[in-house]
Amino acid sequence: MTEPRQESLDKMWKYVKGFAEKSGTTMHPNQAVTEAVVKGLAANVDELGKPLCPCNFYKDKKEEAKLRRWICACDEMQIYKYCHCLLFVREDGMPITEYLPENHEGRQTYGLIIDPTPDKGRALKHRATPQAEPDDSPTP
Ligand code: SF4
Repeated sequence: MTEPRQESLDKMWKYVKGFAEKSGTTMHPNQAVTEAVVKGLAANVDELGKPLCPCNFYKDKKEEAKLRRWICACDEMQIYKYCHCLLFVREDGMPITEYLPENHEGRQTYGLIIDPTPDKGRALKHRATPQAEPDDSPTP
């Protein structure tokens, strides 16, 4: 895999630090996890012009980027404050699952993980639904 441009890396580090602060989350305590995700986001900025989530498989990345639902910070983060890449997590490294529908894979994988900063983040919480994600969602 070619290295992302330094400009894209700088842009994504700045964005990730700012969004963590704004959403009341922290970056993963294992720096290697954060570095890998930021690198993946920067690579997608180079390829697509947008920070498409690097932790999903897409049949067509360009078409997916147009839909915007997996542009970081993705709909799941903005609605449920859940980051399946583990980029935006609690200080203990656990992803917040409190707001997810109970049948969501995040809730089933990690159990109930409470949000320590409920006053921050979830700009799109009005879109929360108890339903599972549609079947045509990309595979995390
Ligand atoms: S899961 Fe969402 S918030 Fe987390 S890195 Fe991917 S796009 Fe960003």
